Amino acid sequence: MITKTQIKEAFSDIQNASGKGLLIESDGLRNIQILGKEVVVDVICDSPVLHQKKKFEVSILQAIHARVDVKLQVKVNLIIEAPKTPPKDQIKGKPIPGVQNVIAVASGKGGVGKSTVSANIAVALAKMGFKVGILDADIYGPSIPLMMDVVSDRPGSIEQDGVRKMEPVESYGVKIMSIGFFAGNDQAVVWRGPMATKALNQMISETHWGELDFMIIDLPPGTGDIHLSIVQALPVTGAVVVSTPQPIALADAKKGVGMFQMDAINIPVLGIIENMSYFCPEELPNNKYYLFGRDGAKNLANDINVPFLGGLPINQSIREASDVGRPAALQTNSEVPKEFEEIVKNTLLSLTERVKSLPPSEAVRITTMAGCKTTKREV
Ligand code: ADP
Repeated sequence: MITKTQIKEAFSDIQNASGKGLLIESDGLRNIQILGKEVVVDVICDSPVLHQKKKFEVSILQAIHARVDVKLQVKVNLIIEAPKTPPKDQIKGKPIPGVQNVIAVASGKGGVGKSTVSANIAVALAKMGFKVGILDADIYGPSIPLMMDVVSDRPGSIEQDGVRKMEPVESYGVKIMSIGFFAGNDQAVVWRGPMATKALNQMISETHWGELDFMIIDLPPGTGDIHLSIVQALPVTGAVVVSTPQPIALADAKKGVGMFQMDAINIPVLGIIENMSYFCPEELPNNKYYLFGRDGAKNLANDINVPFLGGLPINQSIREASDVGRPAALQTNSEVPKEFEEIVKNTLLSLTERVKSLPPSEAVRITTMAGCKTTKREV
């Protein structure tokens, strides 16, 4: 005869789904039912991330089989509880009216393809029928105007409820605001600090974005002031981090993920995208060359428990598409659009999980953070 105590003991070293602390200690084991050879356990799952949930479920199954009886039929009911109150150092921010989801695209290192991925995610979403906007916040090299073929365009002006606002430029069904429209490619780089922050805040709040299902933000590489300004100004729903599989890029990507996961920022990382995964010559379609190493970003995602959203090859047509201002996701004669669609699909899955289990996005208030100035924003 199996007892509840035996089952409970099998849980003694099972960690929470998030990997933070033991399930028993956080009072996560809510109910045990034993029906002959069937055991049903209700447990609190503290992570919205699909693969963490799966890993958590498997760890429970294995523990019961190993420590109680291998023949037991085990059913695990995961209870997802949204946090009741936001952490003390964060406040609910004002969402931008009409904008549903804000996805920040980040990278540790420059040149890994963050802007390419941002532009292609945006057009792939627009192709799927979503209303999409892209905010190019990469002050070190605003390349979205070039990649979307709007280098010579400038935002218009529109009056909304008696207030003058900027009207985004539009290309391939995507509304675009870029720091490059105001500073030009050469000047933007010297626009660091307060000037860049002010310009970005204007692009966010003084722009008539209209109804958007998704706003994609192309962040500067690394972690810095601009990132902090963005997460304070906007309710970011989730972040994706782009990296090549090269160890030196991965180390920085890990720092990027760490920044979003800091207690004071706490923005869900929807996943990691691996760019330049391999090279495959057209004349040798079965040969893949892993120029920057193999599966580096995939392994990093597994190691740090964030979803892997997919990989993209190094491809001449991706580079050319960016240079001529027609993102590769719009191609009709190649496999590239499918690769972007797969990444977008995985991002949306990750986002759905996030939306199910967390309260609506909040802008972040950063009160104190080591190495950062104290900033307060009242709403
Ligand atoms: P980041 O925004 O990270 O600085 P970019 O998106 O500007 O990087 O990409 C850097 C360069 O690499 C650009 O010239 C771009 O066209 C090229 N590039 C990016 N991804 C790929 C890829 N998968 N295959 C070929 N070229 C790429």
